[in-house]
Amino acid sequence: MIIKKFSAVNFRNIGRCEIAFEKGLNLLHGKNAQGKTNALEGIYIFSRGRSFRAREDRELIRFGEEGFRLSIEYEDGSGDNSLEYSMLGRERLRKKNGYKLKGPSEMIGSFRSVLFYPDNLEIVKGGPEERRGFINVAISQCYPSYIKYYSDYKKALENRNCLLRAAAKGLWFSEDELISWSHSMAEYASYIYLMREEYIRSISPFAQRIMKEISEGEESLTIEYFPDIPEGNYTREQVRDEYIKVFTSSLDRERAAGVSLFGPHRDDIKLGVNGKDSRLFASQGQQRSCVLALKLAEGEVIHSLTGDYPVYLFDDVLSELDDRRRRYVLSGLGERQIIITSCESEEYRQYGANIIEVADGAYSQE
Ligand code: ATP
Ligand code: MG
Repeated sequence: MIIKKFSAVNFRNIGRCEIAFEKGLNLLHGKNAQGKTNALEGIYIFSRGRSFRAREDRELIRFGEEGFRLSIEYEDGSGDNSLEYSMLGRERLRKKNGYKLKGPSEMIGSFRSVLFYPDNLEIVKGGPEERRGFINVAISQCYPSYIKYYSDYKKALENRNCLLRAAAKGLWFSEDELISWSHSMAEYASYIYLMREEYIRSISPFAQRIMKEISEGEESLTIEYFPDIPEGNYTREQVRDEYIKVFTSSLDRERAAGVSLFGPHRDDIKLGVNGKDSRLFASQGQQRSCVLALKLAEGEVIHSLTGDYPVYLFDDVLSELDDRRRRYVLSGLGERQIIITSCESEEYRQYGANIIEVADGAYSQE
């Protein structure tokens, strides 16, 4: 996958821009607060369906304007493609190759990219929700049907929680409805479980290999999935039945707590460095290596499933890595495209980077 052009109108601090990218290494270079991350944010919206840092799309509109427009031209195994995303007032419009798309879920899975930015360290340092967030986004790009199962699961969960809240307060609620939502949740949970299980099985060997390579054999990385059903080699129906057991066997506790205590929304994924829980025992450098290995492995999974590498978007993180790890990323690019942001440019010149100067929302090719 190669992004050739990114255009934006009234997006963040960008009035109007058109940036041409090349194969291999691209550098968005400039001082602080000029619009480097804004460009990556705009590009990544096409992969994730929404911004990775705004709570609401409205924040993306340039101050004083009514809406924004973004578009990309990219090349994948099928040839040249384009995507467009615009917002005017409350109206949103998404298009692929000129044809209207129904919603964000139809956009995800076309232009695939992997974003790595400083907050991603939370995948290692933070709570289980950070790791669930990581694999949710990663799986969505590989299997777009995951998005629908996940949002249906969340809806059923909200309804079930609503009844449990009533129960905890001693208010009347329908026991039948509670059982019915538990069954719906089990149905969606079975798909989520199977995709998560499969994804973790696919990404593990890549992450392990990369972690070994970047640490020159010194560090190992393991990824383990901890769902609420016992380990087993299940069919989809069996998984659903296991979840029905989970959702109906602790109802007394859940009624007292007023919330659903089990299910994929509580799953954890444990990352182990040299056999120890990385959240508790990894040094800062090991945490960085761990996230780098995960992000590069995410790209390898996309490549193994689709035959295409994603575009790698590295915001500020390369300069934080030590020389050895930075060299590992930059010299192992091969046919991959990477877009990085940095306030420095000297080192990247040696790698023949396409350097784009960023100043006050304007982008110029060197
Ligand atoms: P750094 O090196 O510090 O990370 P950067 O070049 O990545 O800087 P960006 O995050 O891209 O900087 O942000 C650039 C500027 O965009 C900031 O000054 C910010 O105030 C501005 N900005 C953010 N949102 C909007 C908006 N909706 N309208 C106009 N300007 C905005
Ligand atoms: Mg930035």
